[in-house]
Amino acid sequence: MSFDPPERITGDDHYDSDHSICPYCRYKHHVESEDYSEDPRVEECSQCGMKFHLSQRFSVDHVTTPDCGLNGQPHEYRMHTISGRNFCKYCGRIEPLSESNASGVAAAGATPD
Ligand SMILES: [Zn+2]
Ligand SMILES: [Zn+2]
Repeated sequence: MSFDPPERITGDDHYDSDHSICPYCRYKHHVESEDYSEDPRVEECSQCGMKFHLSQRFSVDHVTTPDCGLNGQPHEYRMHTISGRNFCKYCGRIEPLSESNASGVAAAGATPD
């Protein structure tokens, strides 16, 4: 069940990441994250008693991560001075210890992690 807000010309919407702000008296209501919904609904201000439309907007972050293996490319490992581990300068992949041993002299007696 949703209440569609009326079509409007001017935007006097109030944005706040943690609260729903009453558009009439500007009272800040705390909204529990479990109550988040993109469906507009009617809330009644506990301060002034006026009703208003409330909905949440979710933003999406597009995260892209390179992966040499995905492209059939060899990783090019460099020493990370802080951690002492090797990491690929292209995709940032940390070289597994077993590979690190194998690329060394000989993997004789190496115990895989
Ligand atoms: Zn109010
Ligand atoms: Zn890589």
